[in-house]
Amino acid sequence: MPEVNIRHLDKIYDGGVQAVYDFNLDIADGEFIVLVGPSGCGKSTTLRMVAGLEDISAGTLIIDGKDCTQLPPKDRDIAMVFQNYALYGHMTIYENMAFSLTLRKENKEIIHRKVMAAAEILDLKTQLNKKPRQLSGGQRQRVAMGRAIVRNPKVFLFDEPLSNLDAKLRGSMRRELILLHKKLNATIMYVTHDQTEALTLADRIVCMSMGHVQQIGKPIELYEKPANTFVATFIGLPPMNMFEGKIEGGHFKCDLFDYPLSAEQGKVLAGHEGKQVILGVRPENVTRDGHIDLAITNNENLGMNTLVHGKIGGKKIVVCKFAEWCNYKAGDTIQIGFDPEMMHFFEMPQKDEKGNELPGKAIR
Ligand code: ADP
Repeated sequence: MPEVNIRHLDKIYDGGVQAVYDFNLDIADGEFIVLVGPSGCGKSTTLRMVAGLEDISAGTLIIDGKDCTQLPPKDRDIAMVFQNYALYGHMTIYENMAFSLTLRKENKEIIHRKVMAAAEILDLKTQLNKKPRQLSGGQRQRVAMGRAIVRNPKVFLFDEPLSNLDAKLRGSMRRELILLHKKLNATIMYVTHDQTEALTLADRIVCMSMGHVQQIGKPIELYEKPANTFVATFIGLPPMNMFEGKIEGGHFKCDLFDYPLSAEQGKVLAGHEGKQVILGVRPENVTRDGHIDLAITNNENLGMNTLVHGKIGGKKIVVCKFAEWCNYKAGDTIQIGFDPEMMHFFEMPQKDEKGNELPGKAIR
């Protein structure tokens, strides 16, 4: 499997809408890359430019050392699996999987070998004579992948392939995709708006917002060291709690509480004395050994943990995730604090020249 090198990719649609700004990424041989971000952030546009389904407005795309920037899709040696993976209802599963090779007038024996190999990988061997309607949603999704696999492409592109499936099936398909990636050693670019898919599938995640790449890194890097307030609140569920305040004399002070900083935090924040910053704390990093009063509003037991929602000072809503079954009632008050190792500090968001809010950068 080859490398993919994406350099300074821009997309400006007819009418002047810029959907992607200066996208840069080197995908290693066999790497599973997930593009994640909210609807409209430019992830599908980026994938479609790699596929050749959208013109590249500026920048270059190199696949396996070959400049593909201007090549039509059929010459790029890539295969795309979509959210709406329409199979041909009148064809058998075998015929569906063989379809692209049949179109290319490939030798029948070669087609048979490739379809059987893909069916083996995807556990579809006993389904080959059936019609798509006789298969479950998960099996149909596997046939769609089979159609891509038989082409032996250099790169697989997936555009929200699981979003039409129910939650349980999505979970099992995620695990199948991980195994499939290992078996094929495939280079994959995968688009989703679902941060869970990104965290569980990716070797590296590309997190996007408003056409801009916000951070590229391993899942744990985005989770533990988010580059800015956007990534901090997009990755992780429930999202990170954010507090706006000021650094003063070794404390983070806001209108809700005054929190002493550790010596380590004091060093990192030394340049921000007297300045406004944002403190971020994930629900799982809220502790019950602090001095901040939290008036509980909801207690949601999830089995292995409990989501506790409450208010500080009667207004600021905070979500905590405690690793045990809790039985708090609305109206109870508990004292919370934050794990000092897992407190994140960010600069205040800024506005760009067009008035768009830019996320606040992490202070490290
Ligand atoms: P995502 O996949 O992250 O949901 P898209 O890449 O589909 O986002 O879209 C990014 C932006 O480009 C959006 O603002 C969208 O409205 C715009 N866009 C997408 N396709 C077109 C098009 N064909 N013409 C004009 N604007 C488009």
